Amino acid sequence: MSFDRLGLSAALLRAVADQKYTQPTPVQTQAIPVVLQGKDLLAGAQTGTGKTAGFTLPMLQLINERVQGQSRRHIRGLVLTPTRELAAQVGESIRTYGKHLSLRSSIIFGGVNINPQIRALRAGIDILVATPGRLLDHVGQGTIDLSKVEILVLDEADRMLDMGFIHDIKRVLALLPPKRQNLLFSATFSDEIKNLADRLLNSPVHIEAARKNTAAEQVEQVMHPVDRERKKDLLSKLITEGEWRQVLVFTRTKHGANRLSQQLERDGIRSSAIHGNKSQSARTHALADFKNGKVRVLVATDIAARGLDIDKLPHVVNFELPNVAEDYVHRIGRTGRAGRDGCAISLVCVDELKLLRDIERLLRTSIPKVMMPGFEPDPSIAPEPIPNGRNRALFQKDRRPANRHSPAPRRDDRRDRNNDRKKASGSRNGQSRRRDSESSPSSGSRRRSSGSSRHSAFSDF
Ligand code: AMP
Repeated sequence: MSFDRLGLSAALLRAVADQKYTQPTPVQTQAIPVVLQGKDLLAGAQTGTGKTAGFTLPMLQLINERVQGQSRRHIRGLVLTPTRELAAQVGESIRTYGKHLSLRSSIIFGGVNINPQIRALRAGIDILVATPGRLLDHVGQGTIDLSKVEILVLDEADRMLDMGFIHDIKRVLALLPPKRQNLLFSATFSDEIKNLADRLLNSPVHIEAARKNTAAEQVEQVMHPVDRERKKDLLSKLITEGEWRQVLVFTRTKHGANRLSQQLERDGIRSSAIHGNKSQSARTHALADFKNGKVRVLVATDIAARGLDIDKLPHVVNFELPNVAEDYVHRIGRTGRAGRDGCAISLVCVDELKLLRDIERLLRTSIPKVMMPGFEPDPSIAPEPIPNGRNRALFQKDRRPANRHSPAPRRDDRRDRNNDRKKASGSRNGQSRRRDSESSPSSGSRRRSSGSSRHSAFSDF
């Protein structure tokens, strides 16, 4: 199949050829003709499948046809994304693929000055890419008119729901004209997504570009069993000896991302951290440095890494396994994008065996295990509860009753706060059960199990 069989105009085919794409990806082959026919679409597609071009190319074509002969511009295409980074990338794709057309597009997201966005909206645009929160800020200020939207795209809809955007999405939907074309892209299909799709879409065509919850097949996966306190040393060794030039590393918390990045810097490995506590300019800067090779390692939390598209990213490392198995699929999808080879490496300590089992159950396969010489885990180290992980509830039950009246802090914040509290109190009162996972093994005593529990959890490796 070649691009010119999909019904795209010459201007769009030129833009595709400029990108040196030789053939459409499966999601593009399926989605482009459906969107061009004006139909609603429900697409199961992970990031890395080429889904952005799958909706951007036909949307540009339809809107370009409709603006011909019109003097006034208004927002006809609206793309909602969960994160600023994804919004920026989709916006860039719209510019790239629309470069031979004279449509105007703009990107709006939070964390940056709203005034240039207001000016761009006032000047008139045809396609807007936005994160829901900042979009609603504009609605509140009366600086945006969504009453003429003809095509709505919800990109990475599952992430939007995970991030709690459902109410914002509903508020945006209420501002759109009822007659419009709707495209929903999601990597996974929870009941919540199905409900949203039922409400949003009219007799949609359903396409499935990647099997549900399946890790990108071209990504080589491996896991190294290692003690929690030796993960940092193993990571440094892998990066240095493997001469890895560009590595995206995932930690569970913002605090952990900062700390690991600093430790790698101390080992002489250029590194930056990217997470939700960083300003937008710091995030943009870190990402640019990583993409252009100034920084070798980008340490990220799941939230900050949503939608990151780094060309030819060869290595993704799970420094800590995610608490939610589906996040593993998203993480490793950052490499091996669009048919390229990639390698996903997980450093797994004894605390994480349950998380590993959940991931393997989701993937319906086991991740090959490779012991690294010199880093074989010490079987006498007992598993410790992972704060906010699956065994956290058990841990909390032992220690204190849950306070049902106080609002739950956000995932990362909770862990950061715990760490801060531990720092303040030290281990004097014996409450600090979990040590800093990246400190050197020689820097203090490791918690060891005794008696009958020895080896029990470890044999699972
Ligand atoms: P996406 O899944 O939309 O984030 O796209 C992932 C990557 O695939 C991006 O870097 C695109 O530039 C690239 N890409 C999209 N379509 C194609 C194609 N037909 N051939 C090769 N690469 C593509």
